Amino acid sequence: MSSTVRTRFAPSPTGFLHIGGARTALFAWAYARRHGGQFVLRIEDTDVARSTPEAVQAILDGMQWLGLEADEGPFYQMQRMARYKEVIGQMLAAGTAYHCYTSREELDALRAEQEARKEKPRYDGRWRPEPGKVLPEPPAGVQPVVRFRNPTEGVVAWDDQVKGRIEIANAEMDDFIIARADGTPTYNFCVVVDDWDMRITHVLRGDDHVNNTPRQINVLRALGAEVPLYGHLSMILGDDGTKLSKRHGAVSVMQYDEDGYLPEAVINYLARLGWSHGDDEIFSREQFVEWFDLDHITPSAAQFNTEKLNWLNAHYIKQADNARLAGEVASRLARRGVNPEAGPALEAVVALYKERVSNLNELADAVELFVVDVHAAPEVLGQHLTEAARAALASLRARLAAAPWDKAAISQAIKDTMAEHGLKMPQVAIPLRVALLGVPQTPSIDAVVEVLGREVVLQRLDRHL
Ligand code: GLU
Repeated sequence: MSSTVRTRFAPSPTGFLHIGGARTALFAWAYARRHGGQFVLRIEDTDVARSTPEAVQAILDGMQWLGLEADEGPFYQMQRMARYKEVIGQMLAAGTAYHCYTSREELDALRAEQEARKEKPRYDGRWRPEPGKVLPEPPAGVQPVVRFRNPTEGVVAWDDQVKGRIEIANAEMDDFIIARADGTPTYNFCVVVDDWDMRITHVLRGDDHVNNTPRQINVLRALGAEVPLYGHLSMILGDDGTKLSKRHGAVSVMQYDEDGYLPEAVINYLARLGWSHGDDEIFSREQFVEWFDLDHITPSAAQFNTEKLNWLNAHYIKQADNARLAGEVASRLARRGVNPEAGPALEAVVALYKERVSNLNELADAVELFVVDVHAAPEVLGQHLTEAARAALASLRARLAAAPWDKAAISQAIKDTMAEHGLKMPQVAIPLRVALLGVPQTPSIDAVVEVLGREVVLQRLDRHL
């Protein structure tokens, strides 16, 4: 095993970067970072019917948003066809692969016979060369497929870095096709050549690939290549305990961006999805890289927990600096058709709300009330802006028109108004909130008034007096 760790993420661009793929990418990335190695991005786009440029872009966007930068790549399998064909030629010459002319009809007949005998359907090796065996004459005009000459004896075994030792008897495996009749290489074969050429030392991938691994190991051995270590990550279940799928809503990574999550929250969340470091729940990307190991990946399925993700997101929003949050909010408001420059300085507004929201859309909702002149619903106005409340707001307006503009002075103006009218704090503060922002609950009212600014405060009050 070469000393530099090299991992890869090898998505098929047939859809979005989903949360399971993102976790695989994160673990592969972190492992390479942890060991000062390289992380390779490889786009497995040989399924031309299902691969799309949009999906490639979605994967690249998702990786970028998560900050999972590749050291090498993206490599595209479609651009490596010549190389796969070259290796197939070498294997044919070496006798580790052979041409097979069995037709579809013959294979169907074979399958039917095997099923009738209650046997597992498998290729019977009729074109497999053996010492002393006379092969049939190749039929005229038939393009053969190329099959891998799988060993017939012994076992393929590997110490899976997640699941422990796995052994498969070679007798269980037939000679699988590595190139179709039109010469195109098959999926399992391309993966092998790539992992070999890209000198991958650790293959971390979803456990839906466990069945491919013994075949891939056999081909690597036939090529005289070093066999990497494999770790198969268990699947992710949705909140409801069923396999995570589109039904669970936000499965695309970019959907999390849309839904107002910060990438560091998603990273922290994914890190804990099937991996642990004691009881630690909140840790930075750097800390994760320092801690990450394969020993603490759980072999059992990990269950998605939206509440925990929301909790982490709230934590990271609290930690984020105001300028960054203001930028996030500004672009969200712009997408809603709201001009973010129309109101008070966004940084001051986000500072008021960052401790109270669990996602950036909620933050944008709150900020929007400062930017857009809101009219509360008539029933809200009717409930809160009673005669008595409006009288108090009128005298408060007069005080605010003359007060120095800082929190202490604003707070004093409110207290003086309370005293004058014999009211308690909520009897002034709630109508004031409704008058200014259209909602009865806001952060500390003197801070809200200060941030809105005198001009806007007086204007908004005037509408109700
Ligand atoms: N392209 C495969 C997938 O998207 C991954 C193959 C691998 O990691 O070996 O599921």
